[in-house]
Amino acid sequence: MPEGDVVLRTARRLDEAFAGAVLRRAELRWGERDASVLVGDVTTEVVARGKHILHRTRAGWTLHSHLRMEGSWHLAHAGERVPARPDVRAVLATDAWIGLGLRLGMLDLLRTDDEHRLVGHLGPDILGADWDEDLAVRRLGQSPSPIGEALLDQRNLAGVGTLYASESLFLERLHPWARADTLGAETIRRLVRRAHRLLHANVAHVVQSSTGSRRNGENAYVHARSGRPCRRCHDTVRVAMIGDAPTRRTMFYCPSCQGGLAPGDDGAPQQPLGAGSRGRHRGYSARGRA
Ligand SMILES: [Zn+2]
Repeated sequence: MPEGDVVLRTARRLDEAFAGAVLRRAELRWGERDASVLVGDVTTEVVARGKHILHRTRAGWTLHSHLRMEGSWHLAHAGERVPARPDVRAVLATDAWIGLGLRLGMLDLLRTDDEHRLVGHLGPDILGADWDEDLAVRRLGQSPSPIGEALLDQRNLAGVGTLYASESLFLERLHPWARADTLGAETIRRLVRRAHRLLHANVAHVVQSSTGSRRNGENAYVHARSGRPCRRCHDTVRVAMIGDAPTRRTMFYCPSCQGGLAPGDDGAPQQPLGAGSRGRHRGYSARGRA
């Protein structure tokens, strides 16, 4: 699942391709909205806000997209043959570039002045230029939710998804189901700094890693590794759901390193996740959310 680092990298690539150029095509193939108003308009910038992408134009429009579980933006040079595919939800083109929004999880066209309606609820952006660590620490420290759930709640801080939540909690040896407001500010600050470092370290990389290795199967400590041995203590990594519907998410953890089983986890053996070589996380996400 795309997290803040992937979203930021996507926004930067779109910004490099589109900023300052006239839009020659603008089509939304999903939902009711008509983007023809953007044709002839000029992109001013494309920015990330948490996991949201905001494509802004000179005439004051914002095309908002969200990658959700498996969305992406694909860039091609104008004139390059782009295969027809059914999962294209948005097409933007300049004289030089074509951008295809694939399997996007949200797509809206709105006035830039109204962006707050879509992103105003977000907490400080962990990868934003205006990142406010103190505010994030304060919000987490006031949350009565399990720390793993609070860390994923974009209202507390924006940009952390299941990969970096699991990995940060493991690295800080925190039980994901510990109530956030019992942990103390210093513990929370260490956790937030850990997540911040991990996300920053990955902005420039296609393969996300928390271990320092980008080799397949070696790039995470616990994420997507349930049923496999912990890299630190060799106990078996487990997975459980955290949070309530509709925002229930998967959380991977090591019971030995992180202070015990999840509430409701009976400790029954869990099968290692599909041993596929590529797309390990994607494969899990599809099943884990079912
Ligand atoms: Zn362990």
